[in-house]
Amino acid sequence: MMGDRDFRSIVENALGSIGKELEIDIDSADIQTIHLHEVVQCLRRSYYDRIDPKEVQRRGFNELLSGLLRRLQYGSDPKEFAIDDIKLKGQVDMLVDDSIFLFRGASSELENPLANDVLYLNACMWIYDKPDGIIVYITGDKKETTFSISRNKKMFEEVVRRVRVLNDLLKEQKTPILEPSSECSECQYFERCFMKKKNTKQLDLAEMLGFGNKKD
Ligand code: SF4
Repeated sequence: MMGDRDFRSIVENALGSIGKELEIDIDSADIQTIHLHEVVQCLRRSYYDRIDPKEVQRRGFNELLSGLLRRLQYGSDPKEFAIDDIKLKGQVDMLVDDSIFLFRGASSELENPLANDVLYLNACMWIYDKPDGIIVYITGDKKETTFSISRNKKMFEEVVRRVRVLNDLLKEQKTPILEPSSECSECQYFERCFMKKKNTKQLDLAEMLGFGNKKD
């Protein structure tokens, strides 16, 4: 008989294996190639992912949507954008004529697109040299919200700046500063960032107050 616990771990293992299969391959040693998703998320997280990675806990099949689309015939080939001697590599989920599409899973219908998705999409519009970008969020109960975005140069310059920063820090082997955001609560490095181990001594309060081993 299959207990609750076994069932959960089977689903978690399946999600983990499919997620790994769909992940964008990053050669950690090749610091002259920076992947777009590394600079639209927290730089510290991307740094740890290369230097001392910890497996991410996936929460549902919804999260795998983008990776699945990239693998199917809808996905475009990855494209590179040169920033001096650094290559910024991006890949869109779907490319139709002059429009770029990103698909993301969401837990509920969104009022606005998420900042890192906007940064990603805008950068793709520069990398692929396309004028239109669309982000589609799909919830677990199949509701979708669509946002269309126009190309913005300043926003892309910010991505380019972050590419240079990550490249420098990887070269110098310096951990990027904390970038606290809502991303932290689901980040696999939360404990590493926020729960520093303390050198504490176990104190016996009763003993300190003189009630230690007294007998009545
Ligand atoms: S916990 Fe937050 S600050 Fe730390 S690596 Fe993750 S996202 Fe970045």
